[in-house]
Amino acid sequence: MRIANVHGRAALVVDGRLVDIERASAGRLPADPQELYERWDDLRAWAEAGVEPTGPMLDDVRLGPPVPRPRQVFAIGLNYRAHIAEGGAETPSAPMVFTKFASAVAGPYDEVRLPAETVDYESEMVVVVGRRAARVAAADAWGFVAGLTAGQDLSERALQIAPPLPPQFSLAKSFPGFAPIGPVLVTPDEFPDPDDIEIGCTLNGQQMQKARTSELIFGVPAIIEFLSSVLPLLPGDLIFTGSPAGIGWVREPRVLLRPGDSLVTTLDLAGSMRHTFAWRD
Ligand code: ZN
Repeated sequence: MRIANVHGRAALVVDGRLVDIERASAGRLPADPQELYERWDDLRAWAEAGVEPTGPMLDDVRLGPPVPRPRQVFAIGLNYRAHIAEGGAETPSAPMVFTKFASAVAGPYDEVRLPAETVDYESEMVVVVGRRAARVAAADAWGFVAGLTAGQDLSERALQIAPPLPPQFSLAKSFPGFAPIGPVLVTPDEFPDPDDIEIGCTLNGQQMQKARTSELIFGVPAIIEFLSSVLPLLPGDLIFTGSPAGIGWVREPRVLLRPGDSLVTTLDLAGSMRHTFAWRD
């Protein structure tokens, strides 16, 4: 099952067409994509009964974020060995968690405003929570996942990690537009192996990052077990699972985002986000 946000209304993708969920279910299911995650079991039951492919073609529509207003947005740092090595960091013994604030969530085809000359990309698989998860064991964790999508953990590196200022992970990664997700949410059952999915990005046509989620040090089950041991994960929450190697900040010379750049971020089956950039006023 694939879900998209069409001008603020939830749509099911059926044979490449966008079926409006509220209308096609005759009002049984909500129009608001955020409310849909509270009704995930009802949605699954309705969709599994069969839905006619009507509505516009997916490729013709400028989609919004499949999760527009999450209550909690978690992100995991230092979760791929090659990324740890390129930054000269230590491998963490437990998931290294920070937050991205929800106001940073943006769509898959939006223009992003750059607040500084030191903004970097991080292409990541994003987990969307489908069911309240408190103290969940790793073995049960996938049952609490609504789906997966692509994300960019955009990061203002000077604010994040440049001495002598203190490190500011959460703020540096939460400027408006710094948490774009999409284009569509894909349920875990659609993947041949949900623990082994390709993620990556190109910048102006050049491949900058490419990895498989089987390379994650802490995979989705371990992350959910760890987070939910502390606090409940809520339907519609997001988890950015970590950046592969290839970020711009540690390249020689550095690569940082500029107006006119085209950043394309792709997760298998979820499709490709395409972002352009402009200076913030
Ligand atoms: Zn990240």
